[in-house]
Amino acid sequence: EDVRRKYVKDKKLGEGTYAVVYLGYLRDNPSSLVAIKKIKVNAEYRDGLSMDAIREIKYLQELSHPNIIALHDVFSSKDRNLNLVLEYLPLGDLEMLIKDGNIQYGVADVKAWMGMLTRGVWFCHENFILHRDIKPNNLLIASDGEVKLADFGLARSFADPYLNMTHQVITRWYRPPELLYGARQYSAVVDVWSMGMVFAELLLRVPYVAGNSDMDQIAKISEAFGSPTEENWPGVTKLPNYVPPGDRITPLQGREFFLRQFPTAGPLGADLLMSMSTLDPRKRSSAREILQHAWWRSDPKPTPKESLPRKS
Ligand code: ADP
Repeated sequence: EDVRRKYVKDKKLGEGTYAVVYLGYLRDNPSSLVAIKKIKVNAEYRDGLSMDAIREIKYLQELSHPNIIALHDVFSSKDRNLNLVLEYLPLGDLEMLIKDGNIQYGVADVKAWMGMLTRGVWFCHENFILHRDIKPNNLLIASDGEVKLADFGLARSFADPYLNMTHQVITRWYRPPELLYGARQYSAVVDVWSMGMVFAELLLRVPYVAGNSDMDQIAKISEAFGSPTEENWPGVTKLPNYVPPGDRITPLQGREFFLRQFPTAGPLGADLLMSMSTLDPRKRSSAREILQHAWWRSDPKPTPKESLPRKS
């Protein structure tokens, strides 16, 4: 049956590096809105998307969770571009809220947003999917205030490799040290590091470690959290892009440091942030462990999603 005919494409909603996004609706039910994301497919894929890519899409289509954007359908348009039919999320993203000086929010709101993010990531990991690109701009907001993880590396894996580099510049700030060091084998806790950076940014309202190159990113991470060494991270010196700190070794930061930098989080919040930003991925908490942390149950309680601040 023709999926392409099932939807009607309406006005353009926006454009990103890899895709143009349109508002759309079901032909049979014009009140059911969707977002149609038309991916600028790289020529290499035009004559047949790789089996891996198709498998990944199929898998995402089956993932159903309140904090993960729903992927309703996939079709190729006449120009042979790939179209993803996604849940329509009209309230923007967390980056817009962080940057909007007219919006005030507090730690109870941060707790609600981080809770939704953590539940979404936990569900992905339970299903053996890594997101790999968690950042405020990829956390979209539904009309009821629910935060949804969007942009699963899909767009990236189909798009033009030359565009890819500009994209990397944007996401560097959320990249974990093991990836910056060029680790070939990595685990789900890459996403947990990114969650920690989002947490810090929500609290400070500016990106916490914002390097202007990969080397600079590593330097800033080392200054902030401590220099990676064989003592605090066994094996780190063997990673492909490891650079010795020279004589500028920063000691590994402890709880007091996190509490001083993020006083509004309180001692439990600071402890939770520390467990997300642990340099050695083997010692970093998993999404499941994060969900069990006492911070969520401590006061102030997370704001109900309907009462969260939203864009005007
Ligand atoms: P970027 O990652 O640069 O934001 P995208 O291609 O993901 O680029 O999206 C482009 C724009 O389209 C976004 O800024 C947003 O305004 C809009 N958009 C994307 N996805 C959705 C969606 N599911 N619902 C509503 N608007 C969306």
